[in-house]
Amino acid sequence: MEDLKKLQDDLWGYAETGFKEYKSAEAMCKYLEKKGFEVNRGICNMDTAFDAVYGSGKPVIAILAEYDALDGMSQEADVAEYKPLKDSTTGQGCGHHLLGVGAINAFLELKKIIDEENLEATIKLVGCPAEEAGSGKTYLARDGYFDDVDIALTWHPSNISSVSTGSHQACIQCYFRFKGVSSHAAGSPELGRSALDAVELTNIGVNYLREHIRSDERIHYAITNTGGHAPNVVQAEAEVRYFVRSSTGPRVKKLYERVCNVARGAALMNDTELEIIFDEGLVDIVPNFTLEKVFRDSFIKLGVPKYTEEEREYAKKFKDTYDVDVLLNQTYENVKDVKKLKKNIIESELNDYFVDKDHSDVCYMGSSDVGDVSWVVPTAQINVNCFSYGASGHSWQWVAQGKSSISFKGAIHAGIIIADTARTLIKNPNLIEKAKEELKERLGDQEYECLIPKDVLPHVY
Ligand SMILES: [Zn+2]
Ligand SMILES: [Zn+2]
Repeated sequence: MEDLKKLQDDLWGYAETGFKEYKSAEAMCKYLEKKGFEVNRGICNMDTAFDAVYGSGKPVIAILAEYDALDGMSQEADVAEYKPLKDSTTGQGCGHHLLGVGAINAFLELKKIIDEENLEATIKLVGCPAEEAGSGKTYLARDGYFDDVDIALTWHPSNISSVSTGSHQACIQCYFRFKGVSSHAAGSPELGRSALDAVELTNIGVNYLREHIRSDERIHYAITNTGGHAPNVVQAEAEVRYFVRSSTGPRVKKLYERVCNVARGAALMNDTELEIIFDEGLVDIVPNFTLEKVFRDSFIKLGVPKYTEEEREYAKKFKDTYDVDVLLNQTYENVKDVKKLKKNIIESELNDYFVDKDHSDVCYMGSSDVGDVSWVVPTAQINVNCFSYGASGHSWQWVAQGKSSISFKGAIHAGIIIADTARTLIKNPNLIEKAKEELKERLGDQEYECLIPKDVLPHVY
């Protein structure tokens, strides 16, 4: 276990963003090799994707690992206070270092079960890069990596322990790059054409568009090039990056086209040139109630991590950075017993029981490239508590708690539950068939259409 904790701390420290996870992927590959597995590095044109395979025959079960970090999220470990960003601004704001360690533990535990119980199955630990931006799994799904896989299982660190249910949004990411003409902003403004103005006009247009989109759609932007720091120079170049989300692939394509038209309109308004750079896309998640039920049974059998007084004190420091009233007013979708959860939020520093949920088909806000996997193979995920109450994904509190013993316990426990669920599936092939049947029924006559065109290779802009 100690060596897995070291791996967790190393991945936390590397905090590499999408498709740049060279040190992280290498550390995970070396770890697996040390455990005696053969590792394939660089799969489906991605240097930082890898897999390790064990066993033989059917079924083939894939366990998905992540390890990429987020930009703008550097923090000090264990300090319950926001620290300004440092030179290196990346941080494990979504806990993907834990996701990677938990997935490896699932693989190790499942190997043990296969050996001890003499089971026939092939298990794959799949190192999936660039979840936050880049969509490694989308390329794996598009390029046929999962063609021989029967079931895919994964998890995500959270502030409650539960079985994940419902769908998540499809998403397209792009850049609008404007080219203008520089000039002296005071002396000869009539000669200038401001690319930065075009970015601002795009954003204003999109902010008006917001009123006329579906309530399950979201649009976000970040200005990635302001064209310089001198207000007295008309900016000749500027760029803005957009995420466009909707509940399905076809819907997100339509919304993306409307956003592109706003950018085209902005260029027309101020006489600049526009280049639209399609970056990447991922589809919505198809839930699978059959697999969710198997996960639930394992969770009920194995429970949740137990915490020491010291760990509770640690979590309290972080919980105290939130207003409990705000936490109580959040919506806890599909939770069977919301009263019990709210009582736990008031009385405990962190979630310490299994939060049972009703199955759901509803599309929730946010996206994951797990979506593409779920279209081609029955897929399910769990959440295991790794943090104090209050702390949520992409917060400094998640980064700061990312090396704690609480988060390590969560990762290890996730591995144990995934392995137990896989054991049940291997021993009950009828459940695998049922999960496949369910996927078929949900898709009906819809075919998986990857939002990234075939000729676009994994990349970093
Ligand atoms: Zn995230
Ligand atoms: Zn995440």
